[in-house]
Amino acid sequence: MTTQSILAIDDSPDIHELLAAQLRPENLIIHHAIGAHEGLRMARELQPDLVLLDVDMPAMSGYDVCRRLKDDPQTCSLPVIFLSGDAESGSKVQGLDLGAVDYITKPFDSSELRARVRAALRTRRYHELLSQRAQLDGLTGLWNRSYFDRRLAEELAAARRYGRRVGLILIDIDHFKKINDTYGHPVGDQVLQAMGELLHTRIRTTDAACRYGGEEFAVVLSETDGPGARRAADRVQEGMAILRFHHKGRAFGVTASIGLASASLLGAGPPTAAQLITAADEALYTAKQTGRNRICESSPLEARIRAI
Ligand code: GH3
Ligand code: MG
Ligand code: MG
Repeated sequence: MTTQSILAIDDSPDIHELLAAQLRPENLIIHHAIGAHEGLRMARELQPDLVLLDVDMPAMSGYDVCRRLKDDPQTCSLPVIFLSGDAESGSKVQGLDLGAVDYITKPFDSSELRARVRAALRTRRYHELLSQRAQLDGLTGLWNRSYFDRRLAEELAAARRYGRRVGLILIDIDHFKKINDTYGHPVGDQVLQAMGELLHTRIRTTDAACRYGGEEFAVVLSETDGPGARRAADRVQEGMAILRFHHKGRAFGVTASIGLASASLLGAGPPTAAQLITAADEALYTAKQTGRNRICESSPLEARIRAI
């Protein structure tokens, strides 16, 4: 598990020292911001797991800082704990209603401070786990379609900004319906699970292997051009060639048709996600039409986009 980080925002250096000393046993990374503006900037840049926020600061109150954190899509999900010398229940209510997860009054009791920080960080981990689970496909353990959409858009945005390359592979199992019809749906599911494992082991961890839908898989390849995508597709095909399934004394294998597209991003600039998917899909269609169990590449995308 990665070490979690905290951002303390307070105008008093003494409080920072105290927090550092009291939280030392928790084994956390603690960042310190002296004041509201620095705190807002650091929250955005560092994406800490928890913000400890002083209420009473000269330039801007902690309540205003909290409002700004919650209004900014980049920081709105960061949990905030208020630190305040004001123990009035009205102030606590105001802080909690602004979206803070907790409100601790100064001077803090060291063990209570630590317990409250631990509780907030536990909830944070749980949220992260849930949001990661929501992006995984339940049957295969691969990334799901919604993650695929987001990841491809991100890769293309980076490609546009930094002139990077992006490759896309679409894989469709051949005659999968026949496998279901012949051996039953649970055996079909086993084939999909085996495909999940195969992609997991044969695709680089920096690339994203996804279940695109039904018996179709998609792999987003970072920093990869046509030949690189081809090598990745070859590895998938080689892996599939040695897969064997057994059902009631009968053994069978599976093949897939694979379509490739890549954007080397010369000249015309990167394609949209839809253009890249369409290109890979057309190549996949060609693979199906020309006999299945093969890899086809789309014609160079830049030339096609320019021609449109
Ligand atoms: P082609 O070679 O042209 O791709 O033929 P195909 O039979 O693979 O393609 P088709 O699109 O006709 O059928 C896909 C089948 O995949 C139909 C559907 O029932 C099955 N399928 C989709 N999702 C699942 C699943 O989660 N589990 C199982 N067992 N089958 C699924
Ligand atoms: Mg299909
Ligand atoms: Mg199919």
